[in-house]
Amino acid sequence: MSTTIGHWVDGKPFAGTSDRTAEVTNPATGEVTGNLALANLEDARAVIDAAAAAFPAWRDTSLAKRTAVLFAFRELLNARKGELAEIITAEHGKVLSDALGEISRGQEVVEFACGIAHLLKGGFTENASTKVDVFSIRQPLGPVGIISPFNFPAMVPMWFFPVAIAAGNTVVLKPSEKDPTASIWLAELWKEAGLPDGVFNVLQGDKLAVDELLENRAIKSISFVGSTPIAQYVYATGTAHGKRVQALGGAKNHAIVLPDADLDLAADAMVNAGFGSAGERCMAISALVAVGDIADDLVAKIVERTTPLRTGDGTRGSDMGPLVTKAHRDKVASYVDAGENEGATVVVDGRGVQADGDPNGFWLGPTLLDNVTPEMSVYTDEIFGPVLSVVRVDTYDEALQLINDNPYGNGTAIFTNDGGAARRFQNEVEVGMVGINVPIPVPMAYYSFGGWKNSLFGDSHAHGTEGVHFFTRGKAVTSRWLDPSHGGINLGFPQND
Ligand code: NAD
Repeated sequence: MSTTIGHWVDGKPFAGTSDRTAEVTNPATGEVTGNLALANLEDARAVIDAAAAAFPAWRDTSLAKRTAVLFAFRELLNARKGELAEIITAEHGKVLSDALGEISRGQEVVEFACGIAHLLKGGFTENASTKVDVFSIRQPLGPVGIISPFNFPAMVPMWFFPVAIAAGNTVVLKPSEKDPTASIWLAELWKEAGLPDGVFNVLQGDKLAVDELLENRAIKSISFVGSTPIAQYVYATGTAHGKRVQALGGAKNHAIVLPDADLDLAADAMVNAGFGSAGERCMAISALVAVGDIADDLVAKIVERTTPLRTGDGTRGSDMGPLVTKAHRDKVASYVDAGENEGATVVVDGRGVQADGDPNGFWLGPTLLDNVTPEMSVYTDEIFGPVLSVVRVDTYDEALQLINDNPYGNGTAIFTNDGGAARRFQNEVEVGMVGINVPIPVPMAYYSFGGWKNSLFGDSHAHGTEGVHFFTRGKAVTSRWLDPSHGGINLGFPQND
């Protein structure tokens, strides 16, 4: 049975006036489960207008009242996260435990935002000049746009909207067309938590909706997460229209395993980080760089752990779910074909996997490719699927060079028991998030998330203090309360005394 999925505006569902729609599928069954409204210009403007109308009152709502809503939202989310996890699994395909994991990481940002009062404090200088005080305040921007990818339909929007809302902004969220229902569920939860209507809105759509967010004068900032070409486009277009933009792009994350590493722990980590969420994580490890003579042993240990993994329906206790769409599954499988043709060794082959699920699901099992070289397309491209490529090198320096030559710089990890080598790596590597014996080094909410190079356009990472700065702007006030000592005429530039 297929449901209709619309927008959320001014605290209620909005069907829109567009006749364009997109199909939403359950990747584990191949069934069309939803019919998504794709906004036309009029719809997009109606959503943006609602966010703009709600801004003055929300900006002027006390910090105490704003954070009370945040606390209520956190409690509701925590109590009802099982419902959201089911929605995510039904449209994205990831297994339920993984869906719950993404909600927890998003919830951490809500918890961080509950304490925003501390981070909105300004500075105060008494008597900067005689009887003149100077102080700084941070104020919200206005209505802000958030554009999110398919792979984390709850967590990625939650990297941004708790901080934006706590800081006094209003929000228009444009979710991915592939799994749009989570955003509507979150909107309903905000309403239940007591958020005034119009502060959190959802605009469903494609390029047309994105372009309106980028160009509409009412929208003051854009937080985008998705593939690199679109991130670059969003950054260029948004900034050309005078907006503050943070645009997080794609990734090709390398893990280096040094000869002194514990190979059992490294093999566990590679399997978890390579195949978790079917490799559809921007922090997934897709290139394993084995240094020295450990590669044969390490590959054997990874095979031992990969072979028993169960690929199947995310609601059945499987280890790994399907890929998000049939087209994406076919594209990822074609990379495996290309790697094989270019000379890589297919050690574990996920093509033709026997999945525990409907035969029409978008299945591809975990795939391990050995003897991958830097010219192969499996190495150069972001595949975004359960494909782990092993590149063999002789030295740490060669491994580091590979990472630093890569156009992406999202996440990386080193596996070693040598503190000196790890410290050298954290200093030398040109990547925004680094793990030392940690394969997926996603920072806690009170630090900021973001990559370097083609993995992020703009200069603010998500959440943490950088997030608070992104969603506020500074104002410096110079004040004096006039008394007779301030009299007299002086047309010179004001000087301090
Ligand atoms: P995508 O770029 O296809 O889509 C992202 C968003 O952009 C969606 O909301 C989509 O509707 C919109 N969009 C798509 N094409 C557009 C166009 N031509 N013009 C305007 N808007 C457009 O990305 P995806 O496939 O949904 O997500 C996977 C990608 O996201 C991967 O590259 C992954 O690495 C990246 N990602 C990065 C991070 C990070 O933190 N750097 C996190 C998650 C995902």
